[in-house]
Amino acid sequence: MNQPARAFSRERMDRWPTAKLEGYQLRRLKNILRYAGRELPFYRERFQRAGFDPDKVKSLADFARLPSFTKKESLDALKQEKNFPAGLEKLTASGGGVLCMTSGTLGTSFLYLPERWAALRGDSLARAYRWAGLRRGMRMLMAAPAWHSLAVQETRVIQRLGAACVIPWGTFLPRYARHFLDAILDVKPAFISIFLPMLYALLAECRRREMGAAQAFQSVASILVVGAPMTPLARLDLKRQLGVKDIFEGLGNPEGLTAMECPHHVGHHIFLDCCYVEIVDPATGQPLPTGERGNVVLTSLIHHGSVYLRYDSEDLGAILPRRCPCGRSWPLMEVYDRRANILRIAGRQIVPYDVRLCLDELPALVNIPFAVIRSATPMERLTLLIQKPASGNLEEIGVRIATLLRKKLAVETTQEWAEELPQRWKGVTVIEEQDWRGTRV
Ligand SMILES: [Zn+2]
Repeated sequence: MNQPARAFSRERMDRWPTAKLEGYQLRRLKNILRYAGRELPFYRERFQRAGFDPDKVKSLADFARLPSFTKKESLDALKQEKNFPAGLEKLTASGGGVLCMTSGTLGTSFLYLPERWAALRGDSLARAYRWAGLRRGMRMLMAAPAWHSLAVQETRVIQRLGAACVIPWGTFLPRYARHFLDAILDVKPAFISIFLPMLYALLAECRRREMGAAQAFQSVASILVVGAPMTPLARLDLKRQLGVKDIFEGLGNPEGLTAMECPHHVGHHIFLDCCYVEIVDPATGQPLPTGERGNVVLTSLIHHGSVYLRYDSEDLGAILPRRCPCGRSWPLMEVYDRRANILRIAGRQIVPYDVRLCLDELPALVNIPFAVIRSATPMERLTLLIQKPASGNLEEIGVRIATLLRKKLAVETTQEWAEELPQRWKGVTVIEEQDWRGTRV
């Protein structure tokens, strides 16, 4: 068993005063900039092109002068090298580790996650699993497949906390829900770590079997979900349906981000021991004040494996202008969606999360799947495709939706009702109009 002494000695770091935390982050940023300039050709070239001297960084504002980059640029580097590594990573002498893939519309990027990376990120992440109630000897069902960066970190978390791990057959795609439910019924885990769309698929599987979800989840005390934002009312409804003590939401990616909820659920504490997060104005690239939504720019503070410095994750997020009642000083953030899912309607910008918050105000629609249909031409109205709720008059509900969205988001809406959202769009919140019409003919 690995000894966790070093990370546990940092336990109190999440309560350090802000100035001390900033000083700590600046030191770590300077270290990783020096490392990147020395060891990683991708950054050496970027520093040169931008006239950026890592040795001259004396403040967080100096650091923000380093131009950010997107996934496309890391993919271009990979294409140019025609090989891996692509210059963002230094292989260890043994070459051991996990090559993790992140898919997307632009292509698949590869991140090299050696043992040291897994140890540092996993040790940091273990804190969140303790917040969520995972303890020594408890049985945890781990849904992330082995190649996924979350599984790489969770393996370390499980070792560190001394939990017993159960891995169901299949990946986290909803079509494997049957096996996942069988595993839950067989091994009776007390803790589940899962992708939110898969949790909904498990609920659907319970309905198919005419089995109460609370009965299926009888052994489960806590669930940690990742992969999609969960609104406060959606959490309450899921807790009620599943009969579990609590549901925690985590944000993270292998490029650098870890931000997790504590039991107060008022945002995600940014794990300042392993990442530095900036929210910048999409138009100017300048830092935005807390509370404003903008591009999430990430910097990993871990100089092992693939290193991402000022990486624009193409997410829309904000650092929240409030302190958590838990007393921890690590700031809170929220990620609302991918920026590709931003909808522009009659001069306003909204994301499906904003619509979800509104729909949740109608009890019949909490956790009922919906999607927005986006047209290629400028939109004057929001068109929603909503799964028919089990009860209620659709016409009346439609009027209430229109009133709510007019009041809260200042947009006009049209609803279309579906018995069930088509399988290919389960978990997808924005459907392009041409694809939607293509399905119906
Ligand atoms: Zn907290």
